[in-house]
Amino acid sequence: MKKVVKFGGSSLASAEQFEKVGKIIKADPDRVYVVPSAPGKRFDDDTKVTDMLLHAYESANNGVDIADEMKAIKVRYDEIITGLGLDFSLDEDFKEIEATLRENPQSDFAASRGEFLNGKIMACYLGATFIDAAEVIYFNEEGNLNDYKTYRKLRERLAECETAVIPGFYGMGKDGNVKTFSRGGSDVTGSIVARASKADVYENWTDVSGFLVTDPRIVDNPEPIKYITYRELRELSYMGASVLHEDAIFPVRHCGIPINIRNTNAPEDPGTWIVESTCQKQDHVITGIAGKKDFCTIFITKAMMNAEIGFGRKVLQAFEENNISFEHMPSGIDTMTIVVHADEFIDKEQSVVSSIHRLAEPDSVEIEAGLALIAVVGRGMKSASGTAGKLFTALAKEGINIKMIDQGSSELNIIIGVQNKDFDTAIRAIYKTFIK
Ligand code: ASP
Repeated sequence: MKKVVKFGGSSLASAEQFEKVGKIIKADPDRVYVVPSAPGKRFDDDTKVTDMLLHAYESANNGVDIADEMKAIKVRYDEIITGLGLDFSLDEDFKEIEATLRENPQSDFAASRGEFLNGKIMACYLGATFIDAAEVIYFNEEGNLNDYKTYRKLRERLAECETAVIPGFYGMGKDGNVKTFSRGGSDVTGSIVARASKADVYENWTDVSGFLVTDPRIVDNPEPIKYITYRELRELSYMGASVLHEDAIFPVRHCGIPINIRNTNAPEDPGTWIVESTCQKQDHVITGIAGKKDFCTIFITKAMMNAEIGFGRKVLQAFEENNISFEHMPSGIDTMTIVVHADEFIDKEQSVVSSIHRLAEPDSVEIEAGLALIAVVGRGMKSASGTAGKLFTALAKEGINIKMIDQGSSELNIIIGVQNKDFDTAIRAIYKTFIK
């Protein structure tokens, strides 16, 4: 059995947290490859080291002296090193980083040093080999992962090490400069390392005991999800639920490696299993509820729309020409509605409306803002009847008007549109009906 373990920033923010992580790793000899984030927040108002580094980059780029900023960052690492009682120093690394930032400030390089330095401490603490991610993770010209080169190199390097630490979040760009994934990208590195090493499990350690059924800012103390499929997770993440970086699913999904989300501060909790498929009995018909506010609807009418071949294509072309992706497209006989993100649409609204008129010659186009979308997701819906009925009854009881309904034939989710102002109440009502 082989496990890849990734630890998030809050799990590595202080020497105390490092000690918890050390215990977790040592408790299971299968935990052979470790992917650390940069030190995160130690308390609510604290600053993540990645943000401190990005700030130092801004200063350097604007010709402001960075000596004090770099000192403050070094203090964060030195506190960890001293707290762990390690005979280890990052002095030389800090000299090099500061010199590079002064001579040639680059934001990705700056941001990546948080993981790089934490990885070095971790390798020393565990007595494991340090593998610089810039030597094993490669991006292509478009800025995406260069799969072929990455997996070949990474496999070779990992095969040489019994245990290793590979810092998260960055790799080498096509231009020979360090390049990062988007924020939170250490999750992606963990997933890539899991795939490269053909791990049995990818454990992702964070500060919550798994993926929650819904947003704890809306529902008090929501239940954690025990098992969720990659597809369900993708639906929920897309609609705003976050624990894991969206792109972290793809590498492991490709080869069926399960992800286990765990809590560094409560290691005995089983957390959430993210799997390809499962027969585990579900406690509830639905797996999760997520949503986002601030969508716009574009409502188009045209008599005999149903008989006009190519009408839909022309309407969608208007969005394509304006470089706007659409979210949903419910339609009637002579009507069609396009749902889009407000922030992508607002500045281009008149241009879109005139494009629709020019391309599709409709009778009318009406636009409206303030729509919230809620996704009710669950593999269990496929074999259960009455889910939609229960859902609509729950909302009706709260006096919430449903403005849109969309259920794909996969029966994995039902998307409903409500007014922004009803968003929280709707989620609470759905939770109460299906969970408790
Ligand atoms: N340290 C990076 C961030 O703060 C990446 C990560 O933690 O995954 O976004």
